[in-house]
Amino acid sequence: MGYNSLLELKQVSAYYDQIQALHDLSLHVDQGEIVTLVGSNGAGKSTTLKAISGQVKTTGTILFQQKDITKLPPHETAKLGVAHVPEGRRIFPRLTVKENLEMGAFQLKDKKEIQNQMELVFQYFPRIKERLNQQGGTMSGGEQQMLAIGRALMSKPSILLLDEPSMGLAPIIVEQIFEIIEELNQTGMTILLVEQNAYQALSVAHRGYVVQTGNIILADDAKALLENKQVTEAYLA
Ligand code: ATP
Repeated sequence: MGYNSLLELKQVSAYYDQIQALHDLSLHVDQGEIVTLVGSNGAGKSTTLKAISGQVKTTGTILFQQKDITKLPPHETAKLGVAHVPEGRRIFPRLTVKENLEMGAFQLKDKKEIQNQMELVFQYFPRIKERLNQQGGTMSGGEQQMLAIGRALMSKPSILLLDEPSMGLAPIIVEQIFEIIEELNQTGMTILLVEQNAYQALSVAHRGYVVQTGNIILADDAKALLENKQVTEAYLA
């Protein structure tokens, strides 16, 4: 267990009404890491991210920067520096690209700070800058994913929770998204990544957890998981 973990889940269970989706799940993410969750459909990967950001009823303990955030709602975890980019890149389709970015900065008060943050987003996503006045919903799938990540970055987060960033995108765009994920990490961003594409995720991650029926069944360095027979057979086939 990382002594100085940025994020730590201790025996977390999560519930959708009567349905229990996580069963005493424990994991940690240290400052500067990319950690990925690997697992089949329905294993509980998305629910883990929702538990952290406060979108699902949770028991157990979730510590973020040593602070107990277990019971906090999404706007509170966002304020503390947790940015969740949900599956299916839910941008605001009728708002312009610029307005979408501004929505991401809702907790920044200072205009100058918002402008600076936007410039930073443009460095990662030059394409966004060219399309500031376009309606979000008219962008391509890949551009919308970039906008969704860009919007999350507007809040100056300390951790990015990325849910299936490659979903439904052409391989060349997936490649670009993963390059940006690495670049973000190299400039200091801590990332918890959920991906169907386990091979790609483990290729950029430092460590990984294998999730099965709401529990962690295996935890190791990403390199080791890539060579693990159980993992290759079940998730990299
Ligand atoms: P996928 O890659 O298919 O999204 P996942 O590993 O992210 O899979 P979760 O979405 O976390 O899986 O789902 C975990 C379990 O919780 C599944 O059994 C799923 O049916 C259930 N579940 C998820 N969302 C809800 C919901 N809103 N209401 C009820 N059950 C849900």
